[in-house]
Amino acid sequence: MSDNTNNNDYENTCYMCRRSENVAGPMVTLPGNITICTDCMQKSLDTINASGIDFSNMGFNNNFGFVPPKSGEQKVSDKDGENTAIESTNNENGEEGQDKPQTPPGGISFINLADFANPFGNRQKVKRKKRNPDEPLIDIKKIPAPHKIKEQLDEYVVGQDYAKKVMSVAVYNHYKRVATNTLDEIEIEKSNILMIGPTGSGKTYLVRTLAKILDVPLAIADATSLTEAGYIGDDVESVISKLLAAADNDVDKAEMGIVFIDEIDKLAKKRDTNSRDVNGESVQQGMLKLLEGSEVEVPVGASSKNAMVPLTNINTRNILFICGGAFPDLEDIIKERLNKNTAIGFQADLKDKYDNEENLISKVNTEDLRKFGMIPEFLGRLPIVCTFEKLTKEMLVEVLKEPKNAILKQYQKLLELDEVELIFDDSALEAIAEKAAEKNTGARALRAIIEEFMLDIMYEIPKDDNIGRVTITRDYIEKTGGPIIEMRTSETPLIEASTKAPAQAAGNAN
Ligand code: ADP
Repeated sequence: MSDNTNNNDYENTCYMCRRSENVAGPMVTLPGNITICTDCMQKSLDTINASGIDFSNMGFNNNFGFVPPKSGEQKVSDKDGENTAIESTNNENGEEGQDKPQTPPGGISFINLADFANPFGNRQKVKRKKRNPDEPLIDIKKIPAPHKIKEQLDEYVVGQDYAKKVMSVAVYNHYKRVATNTLDEIEIEKSNILMIGPTGSGKTYLVRTLAKILDVPLAIADATSLTEAGYIGDDVESVISKLLAAADNDVDKAEMGIVFIDEIDKLAKKRDTNSRDVNGESVQQGMLKLLEGSEVEVPVGASSKNAMVPLTNINTRNILFICGGAFPDLEDIIKERLNKNTAIGFQADLKDKYDNEENLISKVNTEDLRKFGMIPEFLGRLPIVCTFEKLTKEMLVEVLKEPKNAILKQYQKLLELDEVELIFDDSALEAIAEKAAEKNTGARALRAIIEEFMLDIMYEIPKDDNIGRVTITRDYIEKTGGPIIEMRTSETPLIEASTKAPAQAAGNAN
């Protein structure tokens, strides 16, 4: 950031206790742009008073240094430099001593704060709250309706229709609540969200897209790095300082942001353990007040509080918390519950009824989650549960080519800059999806697979200016053939190690 940023836009921070102006109140400014809050100033003066120094011999000038109590007096030292005394001199000018700070009697020397020309360099600052009250940050008329939100999500996220619908409504209601605070004296309760679904099914991606659509700051944190306050690791409040950073240190914006906490299932209560559970159940406990809405004091520009960083207060009342996790083995718990129900009475023979159920996870309820190891208070603060389905092969093909910023489109754009057309024929897309499905990491595997075989293409194509079109086939993905290369000028395309007729391959791709 440039140095000529208007300093009035930022809050001052106390150099002693690191609290910002909106927490500690107005600051006293000392020379060298050092600001101290009145509490610390008072404490310092009280300490000095209590130490019994006789102030009658001293005088402060406005540089926080010392001036001689009376003009014409000057400090002298004996030869050993041990005893210092004030001696009267007949200084003819009588003025020299006035502007030169002097050491106080008794060898006590005060640090002149003005000597420290901002020792911390360009420190992080907290943006001042200065907004026109007629222009709210969130205008209720500008919040897109749920169907509009979903429409926009559809452009990026493949499948997951149920999750997209739940999220659109939840987010719409949340921001309506934020914009109005109350509706006819009925206070709308906060609706944090719990997302459950396998890895690589689009949980994080959905939240990212949502934050982009709504243009609100988003912080993504990993629950595994969180520990109970006081232990090694980040404490839960660090997620709020991440959000503040995402909001460019603007407290008002951060207070309306979204926090996504991934891997929330890793906070499950540890079973059969005698050791202290500093990063499981106790983190769930620690998160309770954040989820519900409370004032937290967070460091600005750092994840932990220390003497060097300023602090500011953030209210989490209007922050939307979304927690996501894969919850492995949850399906077994659900199955067990469902089976137990069927085992009672005459339907006991249907015990394996749910073994092949496709989307069992959508039948989850709080009882299952509690069994999994989430504490009831925590679950109570995440009233909306939405589940994500595992991406099928067809969905993976769509992920490759349909979204606005699909991976294939990205590569096509890159080669377009070299004036080369990149085509994937349908069988190639299927082959990629099949390979990805084997890895069981959802859409995450797609990128790795594509990167692998695109390396050669991206390396070789720019070598030859005559190449006009490249078609990727299943053979190339399965390493039994090469891509179809067609020259720009030639009528009959050049075939490189392909078993397919080029014209046919090109036709397929269209
Ligand atoms: P997780 O569910 O584990 O949070 P992510 O959302 O991080 O998975 O997905 C990883 C990547 O896979 C995303 O960046 C996105 O590109 C892609 N992806 C996953 N699911 C989808 C989907 N349903 N639609 C489009 N892309 C997806």
